[in-house]
Amino acid sequence: MRLAELTTLRVGGEAESVIAPASRDELVAAVLELWASGDEVLLLGGGSNVVIGDDDFDGTVVRVVTRGVERLAADDSDAADNSTAAADRVRLRVQAGENWDALVALTVDNGWAGIEALSGIPGSCGAAPIQNIGAYGQELESSLVGIEFLDYLSGELVSLSAAELELGYRTSALKQGREGVVISIDLSLAVSADGLSEPIAYDQLASALKVPLGSRVPLAEVRAGVLALRASKGMVLDASDPDSVSAGSFFTNPLVGENFARTLPADAPRWANAPEPRELVVPLGYEPAVQPERTDFRFKLSAAWLIEHAGIGRGFSLPGSKAAISSKHTLAITNTGGATAAEISELARFVQTRVFSEFGVRLHPEPVFVGHSI
Ligand SMILES: Cc1cc2nc3c(=O)[nH]c(=O)nc-3n(C[C@H](O)[C@H](O)[C@H](O)COP(=O)(O)OP(=O)(O)OC[C@H]3O[C@@H](n4cnc5c(N)ncnc54)[C@H](O)[C@@H]3O)c2cc1C
Repeated sequence: MRLAELTTLRVGGEAESVIAPASRDELVAAVLELWASGDEVLLLGGGSNVVIGDDDFDGTVVRVVTRGVERLAADDSDAADNSTAAADRVRLRVQAGENWDALVALTVDNGWAGIEALSGIPGSCGAAPIQNIGAYGQELESSLVGIEFLDYLSGELVSLSAAELELGYRTSALKQGREGVVISIDLSLAVSADGLSEPIAYDQLASALKVPLGSRVPLAEVRAGVLALRASKGMVLDASDPDSVSAGSFFTNPLVGENFARTLPADAPRWANAPEPRELVVPLGYEPAVQPERTDFRFKLSAAWLIEHAGIGRGFSLPGSKAAISSKHTLAITNTGGATAAEISELARFVQTRVFSEFGVRLHPEPVFVGHSI
């Protein structure tokens, strides 16, 4: 089977074997068997955050399609984390193959708040923690309690708390190389007696809903507002919208230090993004020859602005290439029909080079590259 058929960007060579274990137990058993055989394994949910190479994949693709949403008793940790009583929270256990947006719709219908602004993000629930999905002022991190994980190193099923996943802006320990399978995720959401959302935390969404930032709005209105905004940018999967043949945002918004941010043009958008400054511990008497990379990044830049102002506009493509910048949003690279992964990567490298030579900022791709690199 061609992997292009299993990805939203529609690139990827032929796979030797594709399986789709139907239940949680079958998924665990199948993956353990594959690991024991030494076969190469590629996990795929919705295929919406991968750029798979054109060469054939010499291994087994495991499609994660397990289903099930279970309501668990909320416990004291839900209350402690969110400063509300446990009775005001709902705890859900969701199997990895459930569709993320269907889950958001279900929570909105039930009056449970916490993930409504993450409406319309394609893909599976199991992949959601991989890059700590986020949009319109919400991130998975604030609702995720933990996951059940089949650990590659031990071969065992373990429970990992959200803290152990080291979730950050579009990243986690899982995206950074901790190998295994997300079997299910546990979420803690607020039971919204008045049917209102969490406070709106994103300017553009507040404007679209015509409310001040920080307002609480009926959950269904937030969902509808987010879906409309996303559709206007080609960011919901829609068979009638060629701009949605993509992997979503192709680059993350760069994080830079304050001094560097000051060197950018005054109109370049930047948002304070201040993680706790990390202290560097070095042995006494040790003078590092090379200063370690700064980890106390303070400002998030707009990758879309940098790309546009490096002279790459909507719809841009390289001569003869079937890969193009989306006609609605400079941050997405689209397959206009029959593009190869090599063409997608070529355009991505071109964008990186132009932005670097114009602003000295290196853009990092958001999707996972499989079988090739950018
Ligand atoms: C139009 C569009 C809009 C998007 N908008 C957003 C957005 O607003 N915010 C955002 O954060 N992302 C966005 N994305 C990216 C993508 O939807 C998310 O990253 C999503 O969580 C990927 O889910 P998936 O099931 O498709 O993952 P896949 O693409 O199938 O897999 C992604 C990675 O996770 C691994 N993986 C998949 N399932 C598992 C599992 N069960 N256990 C362990 N590893 C697994 C895969 O091996 C791969 O490395 C968008 C994508 C598109 C196409």
